[in-house]
Amino acid sequence: MLNPEASNKLRSIVGAAYYREDMEALVAHSYDGTPMLQSLPDGVVYPASTEEVSKIMAVLAEYGIPLVSRGSGSNLSGGTVPLQGGVVMVMHRMNRILEVDLENLTATVQPGIITAEFIAHVESLGLFYPPDPSSMRISTIGGNIAECSGGLRGLKYGTTKDYVIGLEAVLAGGEVIRTGGKLMKDVAGYDLTKLLVGSEGTLAVITEATLKLIPPPKTKKTMLAMYKDLYGAARTVSRIIESRIIPATLELLDNPTIRVVDDFAKLGLPHDMEAILLIEQDGDPEAVERDIAVIADICRSEAADRTEIAATPEEALKLLTARRSAFTALARLRPTTILEDATVPRSKIADMVMEINRIARKHNVTICTFGHAGDGNLHPTATTDARDQDEVHRVEEAFAEIFEAAIRLGGTITGEHGVGTVKAPYLEWKVGEAGIDMMKGVKAAFDPHGLLNPGKVFAKSARKRVVLQHG
Ligand SMILES: Cc1cc2nc3c(=O)[nH]c(=O)nc-3n(C[C@H](O)[C@H](O)[C@H](O)COP(=O)(O)OP(=O)(O)OC[C@H]3O[C@@H](n4cnc5c(N)ncnc54)[C@H](O)[C@@H]3O)c2cc1C
Repeated sequence: MLNPEASNKLRSIVGAAYYREDMEALVAHSYDGTPMLQSLPDGVVYPASTEEVSKIMAVLAEYGIPLVSRGSGSNLSGGTVPLQGGVVMVMHRMNRILEVDLENLTATVQPGIITAEFIAHVESLGLFYPPDPSSMRISTIGGNIAECSGGLRGLKYGTTKDYVIGLEAVLAGGEVIRTGGKLMKDVAGYDLTKLLVGSEGTLAVITEATLKLIPPPKTKKTMLAMYKDLYGAARTVSRIIESRIIPATLELLDNPTIRVVDDFAKLGLPHDMEAILLIEQDGDPEAVERDIAVIADICRSEAADRTEIAATPEEALKLLTARRSAFTALARLRPTTILEDATVPRSKIADMVMEINRIARKHNVTICTFGHAGDGNLHPTATTDARDQDEVHRVEEAFAEIFEAAIRLGGTITGEHGVGTVKAPYLEWKVGEAGIDMMKGVKAAFDPHGLLNPGKVFAKSARKRVVLQHG
């Protein structure tokens, strides 16, 4: 329970309706998109302006109360679970598009705007904001920035970090800082904008963002390549990149994912294929035709059973939407779905797919794989049941080995979902002890009393590395 004096001060900043301590509000903000993780906050606050955020932060600093910033709570790493109680700050009331600057091709937004609404708005003005996490209909731009989210278009266009050029943020004591701006070039001091992108709410609260917009591609074409051999599909990914073609989208779905996505979206996908690649290229019409022809040749040379090109933009959109629903569709299989995002260099995608399958067999667990294969970013997804402790333990062991395998192949423990709580024990595997110390130094400079999203990113102790099993 919060100090009543602090509660009263928070209530007087935002108004009684926007500071809540009732059980309904506390339970609703005790969990996020991550399974098997829950912890109650002491209060939930809904600010409407930077000024309110600043005043709230000053009160929290005065009373030493932890703060968890929250967009839509769709993250998959336990990033918004208030592990140490305190206050959850929900950013949904700060959801305005403040400006679209057509001369500079930038947009300035508040953090609570829903990603898909922002994308639709800039598209209505003939502009393009590429970062498109599959969760974009529910996620906020603030959450995307704090996680540095990626999406289906990440391969060609990059991820959120490539589009954030300026930020307004409130520091732990309530001070407001501005970084970057409507600038394509800016090397004035350390790049605090890039530091805050992906900082998972542990360094500051983002209250405004200036985003780069680009002209939309003139045309696009979407194709499916279907394989009886998963390894052939994975190898195709590396071969396309090697051929110096960068498709806009290059996604892989394995057989179990194809089946559930098809049952869910009713697309008529073949259930007897081991893998499907969903490939989209965009740009000038001639270049798109040429690239798609080369890609189709590569697919055939890697023994694709067949390739199909979407006949209409509506059909293409249906395929992309179906891919975006993969997680939701898999979640229908068993009571608990654990989605991970191990990432490897693109040349290692086939090796990683084989490793995931070998590890799943070894631990006798079901792991379906899909993901942004062109980015080397796979989403091995375990379908399990939280009530079966033995199976959950085997799933956890399997994921530890999957992360180990990703690192051994030159990859990382997370490509886009962030470290949060669930990956914290593995971070040292990726960045080493000195890396952790350096990151803790940055954290201490921003948040000397450890009030911002405590318990995230840094684990009390690193997980012991499992012994590697090759073959
Ligand atoms: C079905 C599904 C599909 C998904 N697909 C993708 C995908 O394709 N790509 C991808 O990258 N992710 C994906 N995700 C994960 C998730 O949607 C993203 O991480 C998303 O960016 C989170 O946005 P959010 O608004 O829900 O943020 P939240 O979950 O509320 O917060 C995420 C993190 O950001 C911090 N935060 C939020 N707002 C602020 C702020 N204003 N200032 C400072 N910190 C803040 C929080 O403290 C937390 O650490 C998916 C999730 C689901 C459930």
